[in-house]
Amino acid sequence: SPPARTSERKPSSSPDGSVTPRSVDFNEWYLDVIANAELADYGPVRGTMVIRPYGYSIWEAIQEYLNTKFKETGHSNMYFPQFIPYSFIEKEASHVEGFSPELALVTIGGGKELEEKLVVRPTSETIVNHMFTQWIQSYRDLPLMINQWANVTRWEMRTKPFIRTLEFLWQEGHTAHATAEEAETEALQMIDVYKKFAYEEAAIPVIAGRKSRIETFAGAICTYTIEAMMGDRKALQAGTSHNLGQNFSRAFETQYTDENGLRQHVWQTSWAISTRFIGGIIMTHGDDTGLMLPPRLAPIQVVIVPIWKKGDDKIRVFDAARSVEKILKSADIKIKIDYCEQKTPGWKFNFWEMKGVPLRLEIGPRDVANGSLVVCRRDVPGKLGKDFGISMEPSILIAYVKEKLKDIQASLLQRATLFRDSNIVDVSSYDELKQAISRGKWARGPWSSSDADELRVKEETGATIRCIPFDQTEGPKTCLISGNPAKEVAIFAKSY
Ligand code: AMP
Repeated sequence: SPPARTSERKPSSSPDGSVTPRSVDFNEWYLDVIANAELADYGPVRGTMVIRPYGYSIWEAIQEYLNTKFKETGHSNMYFPQFIPYSFIEKEASHVEGFSPELALVTIGGGKELEEKLVVRPTSETIVNHMFTQWIQSYRDLPLMINQWANVTRWEMRTKPFIRTLEFLWQEGHTAHATAEEAETEALQMIDVYKKFAYEEAAIPVIAGRKSRIETFAGAICTYTIEAMMGDRKALQAGTSHNLGQNFSRAFETQYTDENGLRQHVWQTSWAISTRFIGGIIMTHGDDTGLMLPPRLAPIQVVIVPIWKKGDDKIRVFDAARSVEKILKSADIKIKIDYCEQKTPGWKFNFWEMKGVPLRLEIGPRDVANGSLVVCRRDVPGKLGKDFGISMEPSILIAYVKEKLKDIQASLLQRATLFRDSNIVDVSSYDELKQAISRGKWARGPWSSSDADELRVKEETGATIRCIPFDQTEGPKTCLISGNPAKEVAIFAKSY
């Protein structure tokens, strides 16, 4: 019998299953899309998730882009063990304080109580520093810039597929530098890589900025973040880059000898994006019909649905479909033919719309006779999204499909940007902030108050400072709470 489920909700995995409208229950909608688009399923242990092939192929697209960027910016991939001696975690005071409640520990191995309990990595700064201390001797060994693709485990109490799971996949970059300035430049460079990825690949118009002190990573001196607005207007922290200063190098004695022969602690960064980002894509672009994927990350960019009634037609239609597939493959377009004979065209249209495939090509007997086909955009509903009589002539078809994919990519970003901007309210007083948050909006206003005030806002409104954006306007400002002069505006929102 199957293992007992301790998860909150069992997703129905039938693609016929209907989807709860977003406006009725956004959370149910999200879970329905994950189940029906076959992205993931619950694991038998509460808060764990099985990533199914279609969901995993989106992760692979994310990996492919980021891996190239990490290498272009001078990083090498490597791999550290998942088990970390407990004593390592204790070495950096704020790190252990921040992570303790979320640690999974191994106390028994091979049937015997272990001498020292082991931590299943929640993040790898400690073990990385343990090794860096051995590898770094002189200034010639710096900068040391590595990345690993791995799983991490955090014993989260509230979980949600992709967004917050007990075990998740991510990449974690770790670097060591000779100077504070270099580490700061690196931390900023990597948040910029994430920001470009979000805009250009995922069509998600994130806002990049700095975290407040309270929201800073346990062990960092400064955390940079990209914050995305989901379809329910909640914020999602979609990626982070930390300037660790010398916190870990002092705890682990990671030192180098400088050009004057003096021993110095290295300056460090770490940065990560996780499978949470897939949840961000679902909740940014999806609609009541299902998933909507930005073409640049879509595992299938174009699906062909052949339409036939009689046997003779079937052969002709399949032949045409195969030749169209060959043409588009030659132009590196990710394409699939739905050959299934048991399902109707209507069923297939719904299925591939649910899966968020950006373009659908329909080919029937009349199209074959005319040397043309019908093209349908996922992001434009019904007949409006259809173009009839597009030529099958290779050069025309390739140019047409490429152009459409580009259009869809741009229009997804434009739509999400309009949505974001129409849901951010500039506020100048606490009353205005409260009002904006209670209307489900993000509030942006001048801020120079204390940590205590920030906590009070959280308690009273449920909103936190998502970031202090890099993009700031000039001119004098007055803190919305304290009335003191403020240098910057901060963005407050409820978040995942
Ligand atoms: P952190 O190491 O806490 O800065 O986390 C790095 C990134 O991992 C965050 O920006 C999130 O996008 C993601 N992340 C953190 N916790 C989880 C989780 N429980 N499940 C999925 N992704 C997570």
